[in-house]
Amino acid sequence: MAEYAIRTYGDPVLRQRARDVEDIDGRLTQLADDMIETMYAAPGVGLAAPQVGVQKRLFVYDTGDGEGPRVVVNPVLSEASGEWTFEEGCLSVPGLSWPIVRPKLVHLTGLDLQGKEVSIEADEYLARVLQHEVDHLDGVLLVERLDEEQRREAMRILRARALDLPAGDPDGLSRLAATRHGDHGEGDAPRL
Ligand code: ZN
Repeated sequence: MAEYAIRTYGDPVLRQRARDVEDIDGRLTQLADDMIETMYAAPGVGLAAPQVGVQKRLFVYDTGDGEGPRVVVNPVLSEASGEWTFEEGCLSVPGLSWPIVRPKLVHLTGLDLQGKEVSIEADEYLARVLQHEVDHLDGVLLVERLDEEQRREAMRILRARALDLPAGDPDGLSRLAATRHGDHGEGDAPRL
């Protein structure tokens, strides 16, 4: 087992659509094991392969329901319904989280590591985790799920971070970033 470095906002791998897995073999099992180790070490609730730089359609998750870690290969979401707001964080956008509206109920199908079909009817928290991870496989980050005002603020923070602005910057961007970080400290929202 080995831990991966988690790719963060700005890394182009997070913006690309991952490819379908064609062979479920020992190498894929090793990848899934390493992703699970990386997820627990972060710590996070879910982790998709592109977040560790691997362009394959699989993700791992553990919502803490006592069932242990799960792996889904080539997942497909269908039958999304309802609406649910939830404070969502992402391991690839560390230290930030936002209340995001998404469908409340989803149906997800895919394969497990034995190549057996899985079918998951998910509500609320689990539905949120699954949707977030499938987004990663499509190259979509949670900042793209924000409303216009949230998104503007998020972009200001992320740009300030990228520029590593000093405390005295005229626009106060680094202060804004710090404030935002303080309001939503790491660990408040599940990181996916
Ligand atoms: Zn994420």
